[in-house]
Amino acid sequence: MTRSEALFEQAKQTIPGGVNSPVRAFNGVGGSPLFIEKADGAYIYDADGKKYIDYVGSWGPMILGHNNPQIRQAVLEAVENGLSFGAPTELEVKMAEKVIEMVPSIEQVRMVSSGTEATMSAIRLARGFTNRDKILKFEGCYHGHADCLLVKAGSGALTLGQPSSPGIPEDFAKHTLTAVYNDLDSVRAIFNEHPEAISCIILEPVAGNMNCIPPVEGFLEGLRAICDEFGALMIIDEVMTGFRVSKSGAQGHYNVKPDLTTLGKVIGGGMPVGAFGGRKDVMQYIAPTGPVYQAGTLSGNPIAMTTGLAQMDALCQPGLYEELTAKTKRIAEGFKAAADKHGIPLSINQVGGMFGFFFTEDTNPITSFDQVTQCNMDHFRHFYHLMLDEGVYLAPSAYEAGFLSMAHGEEELELTLAAADKAFAALKAL
Ligand code: PMP
Repeated sequence: MTRSEALFEQAKQTIPGGVNSPVRAFNGVGGSPLFIEKADGAYIYDADGKKYIDYVGSWGPMILGHNNPQIRQAVLEAVENGLSFGAPTELEVKMAEKVIEMVPSIEQVRMVSSGTEATMSAIRLARGFTNRDKILKFEGCYHGHADCLLVKAGSGALTLGQPSSPGIPEDFAKHTLTAVYNDLDSVRAIFNEHPEAISCIILEPVAGNMNCIPPVEGFLEGLRAICDEFGALMIIDEVMTGFRVSKSGAQGHYNVKPDLTTLGKVIGGGMPVGAFGGRKDVMQYIAPTGPVYQAGTLSGNPIAMTTGLAQMDALCQPGLYEELTAKTKRIAEGFKAAADKHGIPLSINQVGGMFGFFFTEDTNPITSFDQVTQCNMDHFRHFYHLMLDEGVYLAPSAYEAGFLSMAHGEEELELTLAAADKAFAALKAL
């Protein structure tokens, strides 16, 4: 038994399923999860001392790679001043100014401590501002685990085959309307049915919780137009895509302007951070200026703000996103070439620093949740473990996007593609 396996057995005694977030338990791929001891650059190291090239990056935030020296130094210095004050700090002002500078649609921003809090608060605000109860989301999109958002959700909820969850009263769930991603007709039909009841549309601008599905041409613009027509707010959830797809998020990449934006892990550089922001007239509607209540003891925590600011400063280096995108493209296209070479049907998607691969014979671009659910999950599971054996750590679910970092150098890319070549060959021989 490996040390990771032993720790997993031990963990299951005291932690439900042995993990503090379900997808970590490897339900999507089978076997025992790796317990991680440390991470550095493009690598994570497990409890057995084995190192892996990491394509999870703490599920997105590690754009600069793990244990970045600049960020580490900033955090060490901040710790000297104390860990939390529960009172305003200049760091929070700097953070707000930085976010506003990077994302032009954001005029004011409020910090929270997770992506879940960000989306939950943004929705409460949208409901309060519009005085409407219903929200519209998309099947396969995940926005955290607030009650109203765990309806036909993606990510771990999909991996477990539970798109919604017990514990959410029907009376809550009934206000969440679900449309089909990349299908404007499905959205319009719902709005026609409830023309004055929908407070907002919330969406992932590149869906990253049902693998990696970019928006089809016209989809984001179409949603913007529908929101304007029916008086609903558009909330773009950039918890995953913010500062990963481009310096100004997916909204900058696709040139669409939401009313509200939610941000998460990326702006914390690995600390528990989230944020929501947008139009000033809407943001003024939250307490203490407005009637919609929202709060947090650790919101804007000084260590988290220091980490986030150091990361965002580093992300502003010229040419960073071009390089990140080029590396990610190389991995996605390299996987495809290796799969083709060995006769394994594979489709790929890639936007900025995120990518997805699909074991499917479908030769159309993969743009829908339905196409994702029809992929060959056996192939994915086998491939996953073959790659792990070769020292490559991918997201342990076919419903998650892959992430690269600036620390992935030529050597790591080549090692990964060589591993993929071997894994596809082994998959063919099965
Ligand atoms: N929104 C999106 C798009 C996400 O990907 C996630 C988490 N992966 C969340 C919200 C929830 O964030 P958290 O896990 O920090 O609560």
